[in-house]
Amino acid sequence: MSTKIYSAAQVHDGCKFLPAGTGVELDEAGVVTALHADTSGLKVERLEGTICPGFVNAHCHLELSHLSGLIPEKTGLIPFLQAVTGIRAHADESQKKDARFAALRAMNQVGIVAVGDIANTTDTLDLRASDQMHFHTFVECIGFTEHGAGSRFEQGATIWKTLQKQTVRTHSLTSSLVPHAPYSVSEKLFRMIDAAQPDALLSIHNQECVAENEFFNSASGAVIDLLNGFGIDHSSFQASGKSSLQTYLPWLSKEHPIIFVHNTFTERADIQFAKQHCRSAFWCLCPNANRYIEQALPNVPMLASETENICIGTDSLASNHQLSIFAELQTLKQAFPELSWETLLRWACHEGARALQLEGTIGRLEVGKRPGLVWLPSWEERTIPQRIA
Ligand SMILES: [Zn+2]
Repeated sequence: MSTKIYSAAQVHDGCKFLPAGTGVELDEAGVVTALHADTSGLKVERLEGTICPGFVNAHCHLELSHLSGLIPEKTGLIPFLQAVTGIRAHADESQKKDARFAALRAMNQVGIVAVGDIANTTDTLDLRASDQMHFHTFVECIGFTEHGAGSRFEQGATIWKTLQKQTVRTHSLTSSLVPHAPYSVSEKLFRMIDAAQPDALLSIHNQECVAENEFFNSASGAVIDLLNGFGIDHSSFQASGKSSLQTYLPWLSKEHPIIFVHNTFTERADIQFAKQHCRSAFWCLCPNANRYIEQALPNVPMLASETENICIGTDSLASNHQLSIFAELQTLKQAFPELSWETLLRWACHEGARALQLEGTIGRLEVGKRPGLVWLPSWEERTIPQRIA
């Protein structure tokens, strides 16, 4: 099998920058066959800018791709959720299919090689079968009333079982059953999800709005309006006097690795609590969606001072103008200039791969891995990454 060597002004291996001039040799299947510290005498394709492994989108909802441009910006989470629920009921199946395939192609083109994708339906079976990307599908359970927990669990489990029947070809296909968010899942449903898969990878929308913590602390605020708006009986709910994370995490076994998504209103005490209460905690940042919905960003420097386990997601086209991990990094760099590109690319590559349990295959330029190769012509804001292998 023939191979090709690439080098660039800067080469990031997914964790760190390698010495200038390093050459990355790949075979036709994209497997790294060698890293050359000295490329003199070798035939090398040399590029300006930076090369790095493919990116991991740790949080997306590809099944919502047809909602692109339809949901008003900057309304706050509760009106956003009401708008999504209202609109998604009336979509044409062929438009939905075209939109999700276009989104998958676009993600590929901007260097994304794996996705942690949220599913509330079986709509993305076709994307998973197309074998163009590694998928871990998080099938969500949603149900706030205790008496409805059994039927809500069965709804999710039916979708999950269908996904599990899909077979693996060149790309990894995994899935797990997960809680949607703290305010939309009863304690009973949390416990059923836990019992069904005691050490599975979980994800949860976490502390995305200030009202979520308010709800758990004092049973008041805008979450009550949301539940009332959907006609959901919350009369048996009792405030814990704690933040949402510190309330629900003890309902799950400590054996789960968990990806906490958004974390816009997560505090240092929550991060420290999570370190004690789950096997591994990953913190997924979706800054462009945070801006779209809440006009707020998480305290990223504080988070980075507590943990290395940070990964990046785009959320859906209902709450973002594009599905590009590099665009998310640009937003973080703009908001927090003290974050280095070395760290940001590590979050997008290696930490994302670890979060989705794919670090054996992707996330680093290492011999034997098939990480994809991405070219970043510059760090400038309008730079569009290009997948080159
Ligand atoms: Zn989401």
